[in-house]
Amino acid sequence: MYSCPYCGGDCINDEAVNLYITMVKKFFKYQNTESDITFERYPTVGEVGECKKTGEKIYFCPYCKKPFKAYYELEKVTINCPNCNKTLCIPPTNRTFC
Ligand SMILES: [Zn+2]
Ligand SMILES: [Zn+2]
Repeated sequence: MYSCPYCGGDCINDEAVNLYITMVKKFFKYQNTESDITFERYPTVGEVGECKKTGEKIYFCPYCKKPFKAYYELEKVTINCPNCNKTLCIPPTNRTFC
């Protein structure tokens, strides 16, 4: 259904995508765009699998509903979707600092 942003194969876990979409719907319901807390203001990016060839993580954007290559910016808790440029939070487990 979605093709891998790294190799174009079927590396994406459809179940993870569906679960993420369900969860993120709740987020948008309670989203607080005025909040000082990053995690209330922006949705957390979806983690929908790893590429079977490169072993790299695949992220999923809740706005444009497209997978993209995971990346981080040093000392930042947010990234921008490479497809639609919306701001997304990085999942807490992937942050290298507290
Ligand atoms: Zn792949
Ligand atoms: Zn997007």
